[in-house]
Amino acid sequence: MKFNVASESEVLSAENSDVYFRRSLSFLKSKKFNDDVIAEVTVSSFESPWINFTGLDDVLSLLEGKVTDLYAIPEGTVIPYRDMRGIPVPFISIRGNYRDFGMHETSLLGFICQSSGISTSSSRVKLAAGDKPVFSFGIRRMNPFIAPMIDRAAYIGGADGVSGIKSGKILGLDPVGTMPHAISLLLGDEEAWKAVAAGTKKGPVTVLIDTFEDEKFGSLKAADLIPKLDFVRLDTPASRRGNFANIVREVRWELDLRGHEKVRIMVSGGLKEADILELSGAGADAFGVGTSIASGKTVDFSMDIVDVHNQPKTKRGKLSGAKHVLRCSDCGMVEVLPLERSRETCKCGGHFEDVLVPYIKNGKVIRREKPSVARARTINLLKRFYLKQEF
Ligand SMILES: [Zn+2]
Repeated sequence: MKFNVASESEVLSAENSDVYFRRSLSFLKSKKFNDDVIAEVTVSSFESPWINFTGLDDVLSLLEGKVTDLYAIPEGTVIPYRDMRGIPVPFISIRGNYRDFGMHETSLLGFICQSSGISTSSSRVKLAAGDKPVFSFGIRRMNPFIAPMIDRAAYIGGADGVSGIKSGKILGLDPVGTMPHAISLLLGDEEAWKAVAAGTKKGPVTVLIDTFEDEKFGSLKAADLIPKLDFVRLDTPASRRGNFANIVREVRWELDLRGHEKVRIMVSGGLKEADILELSGAGADAFGVGTSIASGKTVDFSMDIVDVHNQPKTKRGKLSGAKHVLRCSDCGMVEVLPLERSRETCKCGGHFEDVLVPYIKNGKVIRREKPSVARARTINLLKRFYLKQEF
């Protein structure tokens, strides 16, 4: 490898893991004991009460053939990380021989910690944007080797489109892009806008306004020049921004006044969740969001043994025994219970469903989901339980 990254085979063979997991194998080597265990993956604390769980697809690729059974909460599940009593929710439950899978803990956690952080940020942004489209534009801020993972997590989390070419192939989507400032610098605004309009075969015609022009006068010029214009994109530099929401209001007003009601406004450039709410209220119709989704705060999952050879056993600070996670289909309330106990009806009268479902049985992966299915789950759960605005 020319680059400072691990290869697929190094991840699969735990060459890329923390060394103490491998050392522990050598410590255990000469000992005779039963290492049939159940391990669970939980979160102790996070900055918001709920997360959107993703990254499982890569965990399945990592652990196939290395564990006996694996149960997990499906990707795209938006769920509190502690139940109503504060009991940590197990997101993954693994049964297997510790010596076969213990050394993969580093990669297992890495796959879900970062991906779930990104998908959770994406869900928060999508809640703020409501039914207006959000596009993931953040791969340039991150190591290119993980760009497809970032866009996948952003998409499952609720983003309507992604900018990466490879990401688009993985997700089965046409990647989304407008035009770089470079085209206007090379051709001048008017020639650049015409070239974009002529060259856009699929998707909306979107031109970037603020290379040389004021947002208002540039938008009006572009709308007059290009009859099939769909979007003006405002990517106003922070140093010129003043009150971005007022700029959006002004552009909307002037476009409407001159008969360009159909021309919509896309905004981008360092947008955060709170900006999106404000700009949406001011009249923005679409959002290109980079760093604030791609650098979503990592969810600190940890993995702990909770049962050794069919005996509940765990370390201090954790809850022993295998568990399952019930969620009310009506009110969304979550309850974690010991595996052998169950409950069918919620206090609200709704029906409890088990959200931990089997993904690996006898070492074989028995379930995989398309990202579009996981994204549909996100949108459904956001609408039912977390909605701030109408979609
Ligand atoms: Zn209920």
